[in-house]
Amino acid sequence: MQANPLWPVEKRFPRLKNDTRKEVLVVGGGMAGISSALRLKRAGFDVALIERDEVGGPATGASSGVLYYGSGTNLVPAYDLFGEEKANKLWKETAGVIEEIVKTSRDGAIDCGTRTCGSIMVAKNETEMEEIDAEFGALKKLGLPGRLLSGSDVRAYFPLTGFKGGLAYDAVGQVHPARFASGMARTEDLEIYEQTPLIEWKEEDGGVQVKTPGGVIRASDLVLATNTEPCFGMENHFELESSVILASEPTRRVRDVFPEEKILWSMEEKYDMLYPRGDRLILELYALGEEDNKLAYYFPGVEFKIAEQWGEAWSKPADWIPIVGKVSKHVTSAIGMGDQGIIMSWLSGSKIPMIINGGSDWFTEMASPSRFGNNQGAGLTN
Ligand SMILES: Cc1cc2nc3c(=O)[nH]c(=O)nc-3n(C[C@H](O)[C@H](O)[C@H](O)COP(=O)(O)OP(=O)(O)OC[C@H]3O[C@@H](n4cnc5c(N)ncnc54)[C@H](O)[C@@H]3O)c2cc1C
Repeated sequence: MQANPLWPVEKRFPRLKNDTRKEVLVVGGGMAGISSALRLKRAGFDVALIERDEVGGPATGASSGVLYYGSGTNLVPAYDLFGEEKANKLWKETAGVIEEIVKTSRDGAIDCGTRTCGSIMVAKNETEMEEIDAEFGALKKLGLPGRLLSGSDVRAYFPLTGFKGGLAYDAVGQVHPARFASGMARTEDLEIYEQTPLIEWKEEDGGVQVKTPGGVIRASDLVLATNTEPCFGMENHFELESSVILASEPTRRVRDVFPEEKILWSMEEKYDMLYPRGDRLILELYALGEEDNKLAYYFPGVEFKIAEQWGEAWSKPADWIPIVGKVSKHVTSAIGMGDQGIIMSWLSGSKIPMIINGGSDWFTEMASPSRFGNNQGAGLTN
């Protein structure tokens, strides 16, 4: 079932009811699978996608869909993680991905709440302000837009809580990813089967054979975009993380908290994210436990009556880069998308045709499963 009760996906797809043969079979109807399947179709492959439950289900369905640069950190810490050159490339490339997702949803008239509302990272104290200064400097050097804000500037966007200052990212966008993914599947006429889990598979001469309850699919290549599921031993290299979203009842106080439609995020290691959606206030946390304190801190004097609450898990490698590449002769992984997983999924999916054709580039070299050593063939699912 889709995790997010507020923005349901209406388009549904049939179950597989017969045996079939395809050039490529994609497993998993989240953002990673849909992105892979549609790029494969555009590249001329005969491709089908099977989904255990419904397109835009688990992580993609739950997601806030905020489109930000990179793969989950700020740019300055990314220099330590990937080196300056690769981090800069990733930031530049993902800046283009944000524009592409926003444009694609608008051009295709996909009803997924697309907005380029911008976001503001807020600092509570001097130490966080120093990090913001450094981040602003790094973005500027790279030519990406950012605006340094004083405490009083930030109050124009978030009048209720006193922050020391902030950094405005005007290019940040937001879509509802499950509606975007299913909308893309519809406009590009992808061949999709829902309620069709992969239950068994085997590699055979020239390809793979996949068993589902409705029929057997033979394909030359298999793409696994199954997020949290075991995948050829790659699960030893990702952790499961999760977020939970609290949505208020509709309230007239939305404009008191957010005079403009900006996304606010805090600078803690496990960030909090706040934004308005229509007449509701939204708070996203990594985990429940301190939500009463946080609601009182971020929304002082405003009654935040929780109307809906949902959460989900995603897979994330320790090096903050997804696992995208061949895990065996006929099997390619597109997993480990992390907390910036909408952008990462869209980007990773765009590389799948090239990977299947035997090519590579700086991103696929960075994201290759081979970075963990050769544990290919360790098994597909439990
Ligand atoms: C609450 C929350 C908020 C988030 N906010 C943001 C955000 O603001 N910005 C951002 O970029 N990212 C965000 N993320 C992260 C992002 O949503 C995920 O990283 C991304 O959606 C992962 O996509 P996916 O396709 O890999 O996984 P999923 O969406 O989980 O898709 C995997 C699919 O595989 C299917 N599957 C698994 N096994 C099988 C099988 N055997 N047979 C057939 N199908 C199978 C599953 O049913 C599922 O549909 C958030 C995540 C959560 C939970």
